[in-house]
Amino acid sequence: MRKRIISFTIVIVLMLSLLMTGWETEIRLQDDYAAAVNKDWILAHSDGRGASTMLEVLANVLKKKRTLLEDTTVTGKGIEEVRKYAALLEDMETRDRLGWEPVKKYFDGIEAIKDTESLYAWICDPAMNPLGAAPLVIGQSGQSFTDPTAYMTLLEHGGLCLQDDFYFDLNDEALMQVEMLNEVLSIFLEDLGYEASDIKRIIDENYSFEKAMARNSNILSQNEARNLSYSRADVQEAAKNYPILAYLDAWGFQDAAQYMMDIGYVNQLDQLCDESHISEIKSYLIVRYLFEVADLVGSDAIAVMEEIKGSNVNPENPQDKSLSDEESDEYRFFEEINKHTALMAAINQAYVDRYMDPANIERLETMTKNLIDAFREVIMEESWLSDAGKQAAVEKLDAMCIHVMFPNNELLDFSDLNIVPAEQGGNLVEAYFEARKASMAARGKKVAGNYDRSVWDPYDSMTNTLQTNAFYSPQYNGIYICAGIVDVPVFYEGITEEDLYGGLAIVVGHEITHGFDDGGVRYNKDGSEREDDQQAFNDRADKVSAYYSSMYLFSGSGSYGSGAVNKEAIADMGGVRIALKAAEKLPGFNYDAFFRKWALVWATQRSTDAEISLVKGDPHPLAYLRINVTLQQFEKFYETYDIKTGDGMYLEPDKRISVW
Ligand SMILES: [Zn+2]
Repeated sequence: MRKRIISFTIVIVLMLSLLMTGWETEIRLQDDYAAAVNKDWILAHSDGRGASTMLEVLANVLKKKRTLLEDTTVTGKGIEEVRKYAALLEDMETRDRLGWEPVKKYFDGIEAIKDTESLYAWICDPAMNPLGAAPLVIGQSGQSFTDPTAYMTLLEHGGLCLQDDFYFDLNDEALMQVEMLNEVLSIFLEDLGYEASDIKRIIDENYSFEKAMARNSNILSQNEARNLSYSRADVQEAAKNYPILAYLDAWGFQDAAQYMMDIGYVNQLDQLCDESHISEIKSYLIVRYLFEVADLVGSDAIAVMEEIKGSNVNPENPQDKSLSDEESDEYRFFEEINKHTALMAAINQAYVDRYMDPANIERLETMTKNLIDAFREVIMEESWLSDAGKQAAVEKLDAMCIHVMFPNNELLDFSDLNIVPAEQGGNLVEAYFEARKASMAARGKKVAGNYDRSVWDPYDSMTNTLQTNAFYSPQYNGIYICAGIVDVPVFYEGITEEDLYGGLAIVVGHEITHGFDDGGVRYNKDGSEREDDQQAFNDRADKVSAYYSSMYLFSGSGSYGSGAVNKEAIADMGGVRIALKAAEKLPGFNYDAFFRKWALVWATQRSTDAEISLVKGDPHPLAYLRINVTLQQFEKFYETYDIKTGDGMYLEPDKRISVW
């Protein structure tokens, strides 16, 4: 039940509107803390391009990655392979000259398939089929549902060009996508030398096979999946004559014991691959290869791909908007390398070894332990939590794994990764296949072992340590501080406790509380829901929602929908609460410096349009609200700046909304 009873008198001044009225007027900290603290920063970043402290960090990390590629005094098998790959990737002249030539033999291989037998042989041969394209492919791996000490690997259909339901409901959006896809496929197939009649046939057959795949597969619900895990024998039995085990073995998964699959679909494989479908499957495989390699073959194909990907670019992602053109190019370049987890792991390893001081790990680990201790105290103080809820939360908190900057790089092995440089006859397409193979092999090796959530897997792209981020993983009950956020201006050598706790510690505290919003205090350690605490949590969250919905932001901004930024706003306030609690134990702590750092961490300059799209779509409150609304919940803040009734930042105690 949602109640709308809270009305607020607070005036929240927007920095953008201040810019328009000019900065001559003195802004008091007590009236608009964010604007007052960040005034100089904002004036220094008013060239019309967006900017933020977090983007500065990101840009610094990008520069260091580039230096790492160029600095050949940094040696090691992994980084040397990355250098070879990067050289092929950046040599656009050669890529343009070669065009589709390096992939032609793979298309010839597909064309040579003539019956089910030769299809099965092709599917299971990585030399012929280096992408592992097939009607059933290896998907994600994770903790087994049935055995918490083991890995489980998903087997899923080989991918579709459209979303599943579009094959049966050709609405306007679907039709638009089909038209676009057909256009792109026609261009690529023509480049490959296909005749017009073959082009039409391939497009139609691919569509028909994809439709059959979509019809025969349905996504298991979480609950249905929860009790399932299949052995190798189960998988083979379900697949009948389809050579699924040979396929798994070919990709290094021979020792992976547990699988999840849509058994209804796997049962159909045999029939989907019978002689009557061979031509359709070949067309399907051709399309798979086309889309996977188009990015690699030259600037014309890239331009075509960019046209279809254009619709996928998220205009609301500030990272897409605010980096300079050169920085955006760098960002995309390294994303290309990161497509291969083996290469990502190699560059990450070299980066942390070269730039990250192990002494700082200890500092950040201590900080994180202090935050966990502080949160334990906060939990015990909360009157709205039941005793059982407190106990469950503390148990979970005590079991949280702390991961700082360095993944478990001792698990890395690059002996099987061998990129052939151009001088020795190599090309980007072959390098791509090689890196992909090494990435799959590393995963096969991992899932053969025990599942251990305390390990920070260096090959896991989700936990890439060079992202500018710190995060909580509910899957691992782990808190991660990535090397990509431990940089200037958020972090610097010899950082003061105030700058550390006002910046990174609040961010980490924010992340720790994420472990206790949706899935934490509301659940006991066995995973069953605790009704009483859930209601108490929701009531408090409703107050946050009502506060944000009732805000006037700026002309044309629209307002926050109910609950739109709840989760992140609650985590910000929780982060400050925890960091303040931990800071109590630090002698002579300077609270002014602490609060200022929090404001500087979220220093941001964006266009009005960008701000409007964030109000509509970002689960985080706008940056100035993350500063102002978060801080105005805390007595220590009022005390530090002598904020009183009538000041812009003042919020009456009974109207404060902090959940933690
Ligand atoms: Zn968050």
